Amino acid sequence: MNVKISTQYTPVVDCIRSVYKTDSFIPLHEPRFLGNEKKYLNECIDSTFVSSVGKFVDEFEEKIASYTGAKYAVATSNGTSALHISLLLANVEQNDEVITQPLTFIATCNAISYCNAKPIFIDVDKDTMGMSPVALEIFLKENAEVKNQQCVNKSTGKIIKACIPMHTFGHPCRIEEIQKICKEWHIVLVEDSAESLGSFYRGQHTGTFGELGVISFNGNKIITSGGGGCILTNDEDLAKKAKHITTTAKEPHKWEYTHDMVGYNYRMPNLNAALIVAQLEQLDGFLKSKRSLAKIYKNFFQNGDIHFVTDPENAKSNYWLNSIVLKSKDQRDLFLDETNSQGIMTRPIWALMNKLPMFEKAQCGDLTNSEWLEERVVNIPSSVIL
Ligand SMILES: *Cc1c(COP(=O)(O)O)cnc(C)c1O
Repeated sequence: MNVKISTQYTPVVDCIRSVYKTDSFIPLHEPRFLGNEKKYLNECIDSTFVSSVGKFVDEFEEKIASYTGAKYAVATSNGTSALHISLLLANVEQNDEVITQPLTFIATCNAISYCNAKPIFIDVDKDTMGMSPVALEIFLKENAEVKNQQCVNKSTGKIIKACIPMHTFGHPCRIEEIQKICKEWHIVLVEDSAESLGSFYRGQHTGTFGELGVISFNGNKIITSGGGGCILTNDEDLAKKAKHITTTAKEPHKWEYTHDMVGYNYRMPNLNAALIVAQLEQLDGFLKSKRSLAKIYKNFFQNGDIHFVTDPENAKSNYWLNSIVLKSKDQRDLFLDETNSQGIMTRPIWALMNKLPMFEKAQCGDLTNSEWLEERVVNIPSSVIL
């Protein structure tokens, strides 16, 4: 065991250790398998339907649609493939432009690149860490015009087809305002709600405001299928197309193999669906546990110079990854160093997308808030407490 040394952030380390009641390493976010996971996986193996079709896939799609209130849900191999297909369904093509936020996980921008389109980066709000409707509107008014029912970027002459806001760490962004702006400017709204299963804005589930919404069930998310994702939509035609294009665009027939377009093998295997069906049964419990953990953190950080991020206005957050805002970049670095060297995993928020080599030439709005948050935000351990 390490010799215990007292440092500036030892009280934080002690608080986190008292929450998880352990002296060993504490990861940022561990999955919990406390329900029917093994039972359903065994059932799945016994049925021999472990692959791309099976009753767990259908059951999952029904249950996630009913939980989120979306009319349709289509299971996919992961959240990134769900984003890729959503953009294709939004008609995003080569040379089109897609608005998103610079403060996001790389998958959001990768999906834009897979369509050979270019991202435009718009600032986030400081409180939600998600896309700012005010910044979005300012950018559009200064740089765009609607022509023939399409949003044209006046500086590049290209069409802005879609907008992908992201609900950062499970905190809903001002999605209703963004929805309204997108409608006005003829931009398709695709919500990256990969991190926000169980998060609501004015009582409505995130991922159901856009024409299309995406959820991820990767191993680090609030519940997991090992790897997996889904597309949410209220549009029957889009749902049918999403299913078709993610399943090799095969035309339904008893024995014939014909395909009417270039499709993708982006299916969620039944084995993974078995896992997620078991995990979904525990979601309400996980959300409660995360809420009580957030309350402990909120109380702990109340009287210091570290700010603990809580539910934005009008929103209920799933508290997937708890985040704090340090006073400065130096304080952040000290915090990361002290906590990680004492066996508590903490991590800074992502480097801004517009600073990565693939996107450094991208058009950007004013990014003051994103840059401010990039230097100060840190995630702290957030696994469901056992
Ligand atoms: C996890 C995540 C994704 C991608 O999900 P995968 O299932 O890992 O492909 C997309 N966007 C955001 C914001 C994410 O956090």
